[in-house]
Amino acid sequence: MDLAENIKNVQEKIADYAGRAGVPAEGIRLVAVSKTVDADVVRQAYGLGLDTFGENRVQEFLRKSEALPKDIKWNLIGQLQTNKVKYIIDNGVDLVHSLDRLPLAQELQKECVKKDAFIDALVQVNIAKEETKSGLYLEEVEDFFEQAGGFDRIRFRGFMTIAPYTDDRAYLRKIFAQAKALYDHWKPHFKGFDYLSMGMSGDYGEAILEGANMVRVGSAIFGERIYK
Ligand SMILES: *Cc1c(COP(=O)(O)O)cnc(C)c1O
Repeated sequence: MDLAENIKNVQEKIADYAGRAGVPAEGIRLVAVSKTVDADVVRQAYGLGLDTFGENRVQEFLRKSEALPKDIKWNLIGQLQTNKVKYIIDNGVDLVHSLDRLPLAQELQKECVKKDAFIDALVQVNIAKEETKSGLYLEEVEDFFEQAGGFDRIRFRGFMTIAPYTDDRAYLRKIFAQAKALYDHWKPHFKGFDYLSMGMSGDYGEAILEGANMVRVGSAIFGERIYK
């Protein structure tokens, strides 16, 4: 695996699709998904200019953030158990992508009050209603914000979605377009509601074409994941 080559290819593809979407490439944030990747390799990627890494397990995030440079931005992208919230507040998490249910919002708010802290979060939506994925259904979003929108310790920064695993490019674009419409609808309601996190190694081109400004790319950068 050639990490430098992979990063360059991903950055070029982001720039290419940004161009096609008519937006500046600098407006698309790259979250390098480093779950299961050794800290040494993350350090190399950091050395090659990447500054934001996505992890899906709290323990793994804690271990890596301890070992690696402090200016790395750590994003949590995986489902978060409420009993893990205490480990992430005031502990160097830049952004949570996976705020997917009201009890988690309640726990985040509670823990932040306790520690006199704040947390930046994206609300995860499950556009295609896949049972294997978490996230609010579109029709649940309004109710969620009615309940949680006033939680003053959570900075709502946008939405995150994961598209179904398919090669049907037109279908992917349709799913991403629905997320973009949702984002546009809610953006005026919150200060700093600036991020639409969608697109992974297999579909970030389509996501950018439909308005993603944050993509989460793992295997295209680090190679296929090896679960140990
Ligand atoms: C693993 C993961 C990614 C990255 O997936 P790749 O296909 O390896 O790019 C992105 N987002 C989430 C939520 C993930 O769990």
